[in-house]
Parts: sequence; structure tokens; C-alpha cells
Amino acid sequence: MQSLSNRAKKLEAKPMTLAERAYLPAIFQGLSITMRHFFRAATKKQVTVRYPEEKRPFSPIFRGLHVLKRDEVGRERCTACGLCAVACPAEAITMVAGERKKGEENLYREEKYAVSYEVNMLRCIFCGLCEEACPKAAVYLQPDKMAPPRFERDEFIYGKDRLVEPVDPSARSIRGIQLTPEQADALAQRMAQ
Ligand code: SF4
Ligand code: SF4
Repeated sequence: MQSLSNRAKKLEAKPMTLAERAYLPAIFQGLSITMRHFFRAATKKQVTVRYPEEKRPFSPIFRGLHVLKRDEVGRERCTACGLCAVACPAEAITMVAGERKKGEENLYREEKYAVSYEVNMLRCIFCGLCEEACPKAAVYLQPDKMAPPRFERDEFIYGKDRLVEPVDPSARSIRGIQLTPEQADALAQRMAQ
């Protein structure tokens, strides 16, 4: 998707020097670092944990996965103003704005809404600037959730299906707003993932 701030730089591949093409200096340098850490770890108490089976306790100021909040009656708060994307130093947020249609007043709080909203968790540095920039209190970084490990890079691009605050599908309604059976089933499937 096109970046909103237009700050992204396109990098060009530089030709490698002779030393880089020989590879040997880099290989020996890498091996020396490995051996240094190997002997250091062998003589000290283990400092790593077996993530994801084992997790360290979260700090009280931890900023984790984003959530797109709903208002008190369950409508999406985000108006796709783009301020979070402009504030983001990592160019991690992209979105496409759309106009709310008649009959969608119960889904989106304002006339403009985010048709798509994506956060690239591989780019994100979890600084929280998007949260600070948002005038609608729509985006928050959760204090107790982080992006789980995945095998494919694409899986770290979080769209609205994973960002928008979930609702209880068993109630078949979002805080009083009735869902169609298809909406409720789609919601249940999403929450089961
Ligand atoms: S937390 Fe920081 S880096 Fe991540 S999306 Fe928000 S502004 Fe960008
Ligand atoms: S999350 Fe907030 S700042 Fe970002 S587009 Fe939506 S309303 Fe604007």
C-alpha cells in the first residue's frame, strides 16, 4: 500500500567490495563472535528463556499489539484521518479511507472510516506515537499482548480482522447492536483463530 507520509526511501543495492566478495573475513568475524558468546554463556547463569513456551513478565509500561477500539455502542472509532500514520516513525501504518453508507451508522462512528487499516509488525518499534497522535482514542497498544511468532513475513501485516476490538459473538450483538448470523459466525471464526 502507498505510504501516507511519503518519507519512505527506496534503497539501491551497492556493489560489494573485494573483501566482501571474499566472504572469509566476515566468516571469521562471525565465528569469533559465536565462540565468544559460547564461552561466556558456558561460564555464566543462563539469561535466555525458551520463548514462546516460557514468557517473561511484562513491564508495567509495556506497549504491545495494537487494538482499534470501538465506542460505547460498538461502532469503530477510527475515522481514517491518517494522523497515526504520519506520526509513525517506522512507516508501519497504512490505510484506505472510505465514506460511510446509509445504514452503516451502527458500524462506524463517523462519516469517514477505515476501509482497510494495516500495521506492519515487523516495521513497528512499539513507540506508542500512533496512540498519542490519535484524536479519536481509536488506536491503543495493549499492555499484555505481543505479536506471536510466525513463519511467513506476510503474517506480520495485521489488518482490521486482527486489529479491531473483538466483541462477544455468543451474544450475537455488539453492545445492543444486533449482528446478522453471517456477521456473528465470521466473528466467532475470527476469535477462534
Ligand atoms: S507504535 Fe510507533 S512504530 Fe508502531 S505503528 Fe505506532 S507509531 Fe508506528
Ligand atoms: S487510528 Fe486515530 S489517528 Fe489513526 S487514522 Fe484512525 S482516527 Fe486517525
